[in-house]
Amino acid sequence: MLNKLSLKWKIFTFLLGFSSLLLLVLWLFQTVFLSDMYKLIRKSEINKAVVLVEQNIDSPNLYNILKQLDEEKAIFVVPANEFTAPTNPMPDDKNRPRSETLTQVKEFVLQDGKTLSLTFHAMITPVNATITTLQMQLYLITVIMLLLSVLLALLISGRISRPIINLNNSAKLLAKGKYETHFSAKGFLEITELSDTLNLAANELSKVENLRRELMANISHDLRTPLALIYSYAEMMHDFPMEITPAQTQIIMDETKRLTSLVNDVLDVSQLQTGWVELNLQKYNVSNSIKETTNRMATLLKKDGYEIIFEYDKEIVINADEVKITQVFYNLLLNAINYSGDDKKVTIRQTVIDDYIKIEIIDSGDGIASEDLPYIWDRYYKVDKHHKRSVTGTGLGLSIVKKILDLHHAEYGVESTLGGGSNFWFKLKIA
Ligand code: ADP
Repeated sequence: MLNKLSLKWKIFTFLLGFSSLLLLVLWLFQTVFLSDMYKLIRKSEINKAVVLVEQNIDSPNLYNILKQLDEEKAIFVVPANEFTAPTNPMPDDKNRPRSETLTQVKEFVLQDGKTLSLTFHAMITPVNATITTLQMQLYLITVIMLLLSVLLALLISGRISRPIINLNNSAKLLAKGKYETHFSAKGFLEITELSDTLNLAANELSKVENLRRELMANISHDLRTPLALIYSYAEMMHDFPMEITPAQTQIIMDETKRLTSLVNDVLDVSQLQTGWVELNLQKYNVSNSIKETTNRMATLLKKDGYEIIFEYDKEIVINADEVKITQVFYNLLLNAINYSGDDKKVTIRQTVIDDYIKIEIIDSGDGIASEDLPYIWDRYYKVDKHHKRSVTGTGLGLSIVKKILDLHHAEYGVESTLGGGSNFWFKLKIA
């Protein structure tokens, strides 16, 4: 039930409960227990007086002490046989004030052996009048407390709930997809922190949203073009089966390959992104693996005039996930080929530095502007936002490379200048 109450009413309920408890305690002490407590206190005062008199029974100061007791404590002491205390004149009459004195008789032994019996009378001021006054006060206090509770509840809840309500309204906007929403709640530490956190979340969400939009634009473009090509060539072949040329089938095959690599990239990225990747570490000959990949690619692209060279002086064994490292190398090699210069030359160089093997993939293409360099490893980032038909890319290749090398705790980087070609490299520990 309490969960449904707004903050204002919740604070009010708590404050009201607290004041009621306080009032109850006050009321109990001021009215119910008052006369009993008062009597207790007077009794203990008589006891103290008895002790005081006992200590000074033979002192010449006794008279002064008795006088002081009378004046200060309203306790007067008389010989027992001289005074009869006015105890409860009419015990049955409930309306009459009750006993007005407490008495205690005590026998003292004097120095000369005689005994002296004294009666201590403690005056009890009528309690009833006091109780009426206190009750009146209590009613007043109750009203004041109630008013204060409402006022305080309104004040506190205003202070606390207003920023929360504001945040909530902004968060609702954020939930609707308005990522530019700004959270600026202030008032106390937690709310400022929450506000900052939400700003951060909104910022991240808007980044993801932008990337998503960009990816959708890129991918739909990248999907639509090959699909349209494949369809039109297939249609042509269907209409004129006698005129099918190898060039046509080649186009269909190329475009299918393009589609496959696009789909694979997207799958790889989402798989790596969700973090569900386990490295299958094992010792293998990385030089050999690179040589094979290079040779395969070189053979494939020879007819297009590409020259791909692998420079190495010894075979090195490393402890890594072969499939994933090959993918890293393959992505870098593909980029180097895609962005290579007019000489269509790509050099792969293997060097050994201390305990590490360094693989460099060097091309002599356009290179990358220094302002673009920090971003190329980001997902969907492409330097050239216009789609060049010849250069096919998803902007995912390098982010896959980065993720895999990060998983291997490997060092990697790029040296590139605009017009001066690029040198992408990574280092792995030799097993
Ligand atoms: P893409 O699929 O677009 O190649 P990548 O993540 O592999 O995506 O690369 C990101 C961007 O980095 C590319 O769009 C390209 O502009 C730039 N880039 C990557 N490799 C090279 C290179 N060897 N030479 C020049 N630019 C490169």
